[in-house]
Amino acid sequence: MDLTPTDAERELRRECQSWLREHLPWEYGRGLPPRFDDLADEVAFGRGWQAQLAAGRWVGVAWPEDYGGRDAGPIGHYIVTEELARARAPELVGRIGVNLVGPTILAHGTDHQRARWLPRILSADEIWCQLFSEPGAGSDLSSLTTRAQRVDGGWQLNGQKVWTSYAQFADWGVCLARTDPEARPQQGISYLVVDMRAPGVEVRPLRQITDESEFNEVFFDGVFIPEDRIIGPEHEGWRIANSTLTHERGVNPRQLVIHTQLLDELLTLAHENQSWDDPRLAPRLAEAFVEVQLFRLHNWRSVSCTAKGCEPGPVGSINKLWWSEMSKRLHDTVMSVLGAAAPLWGDASNNPGDGRWQRSWLYYQASSIWAGTNEIQRNVIGERTLGLPREPRR
Ligand SMILES: Cc1cc2nc3c(=O)[nH]c(=O)nc-3n(C[C@H](O)[C@H](O)[C@H](O)COP(=O)(O)OP(=O)(O)OC[C@H]3O[C@@H](n4cnc5c(N)ncnc54)[C@H](O)[C@@H]3O)c2cc1C
Repeated sequence: MDLTPTDAERELRRECQSWLREHLPWEYGRGLPPRFDDLADEVAFGRGWQAQLAAGRWVGVAWPEDYGGRDAGPIGHYIVTEELARARAPELVGRIGVNLVGPTILAHGTDHQRARWLPRILSADEIWCQLFSEPGAGSDLSSLTTRAQRVDGGWQLNGQKVWTSYAQFADWGVCLARTDPEARPQQGISYLVVDMRAPGVEVRPLRQITDESEFNEVFFDGVFIPEDRIIGPEHEGWRIANSTLTHERGVNPRQLVIHTQLLDELLTLAHENQSWDDPRLAPRLAEAFVEVQLFRLHNWRSVSCTAKGCEPGPVGSINKLWWSEMSKRLHDTVMSVLGAAAPLWGDASNNPGDGRWQRSWLYYQASSIWAGTNEIQRNVIGERTLGLPREPRR
């Protein structure tokens, strides 16, 4: 692993930092003052911010230049994501489009599809959602039952999806649907693009433990999908979906920066609360410090490996497993250091952090589920990295 930056990488980081200092609508590194009360307001703000970033060519930097990127590869992506997080910029509102759908269209779409969708993904003029999980098909995705039946000029879509993040704001969704019900589970699936405003699409937000509603149930009742809204060949959607999923894990500079910032805040708070004098807390604080450093090394190893062209699959699973478990332990330690103030929420005057840490503690409970549950990551690591016997297929 050699992480010495090249001159071009140094220049990219410098250019990104100075662009951010000039354009950030808040003080560099301090982030948005309060959280938005309403998710719709946050999304509207996020669209404007992403459009500004895209105009500066800071979105999709690893994409080819012909499609609005900088051809900056995985290291360029790492550098820019890290700088955005350090500046405490909000996560891209169009991240599903930029990180998952865009690379899939680049790899498997037609020229027409690339020209139609990619520029609007970068600028957040159009937001995308991922319509994969179903009530009976989460980890075991290949048992999905949403059905797309051939009709004149396209398909008719019927079924239900769940856990669809940002579906209520999305213009488009990538949807896995069964187009050949007679085929074996992983065959006969197609990768369709759904117009989220089409007749027959119903989105019902789900209330989360944080009292927000980022994800949704989505129902399809006879939704017409025109012929040209398929990515890749008919019935070969499983292969295309795997291409999308490889982009869902892997290096995670944003989470690294967020958890490094959280660790810094924790250590400051522990100092103020004299938690280092408590023999129950001192080892946990030391452990938190060590674990974040380990996460840094995991990230560096992964980005170095990806830059050399290695497959992100199992390495991505190790990363995802490590950071999500680490995150929960780190947040638990924050709550212990907050002590009696931990159950406070909202804007109570004696609430350190204004409820920010409490919200974060609740939010990250889901981190061991999203992007594929940690049990599934353990299976991948066991089978593909450690060479353990495969789980028997049902
Ligand atoms: C915040 C959040 C956002 C999400 N956003 C999206 C989205 O936008 N689009 C989308 O399509 N999906 C999304 N998901 C779904 C997510 O990626 C998971 O794949 C999905 O939640 C897992 O399915 P399930 O919840 O139905 O659990 P199940 O698959 O029913 O699993 C239940 C439990 O059994 C365990 N289990 C299942 N199979 C095995 C096995 N073979 N070996 C060992 N243990 C096993 C699981 O780990 C879990 O603990 C999101 C989830 C969350 C929490």
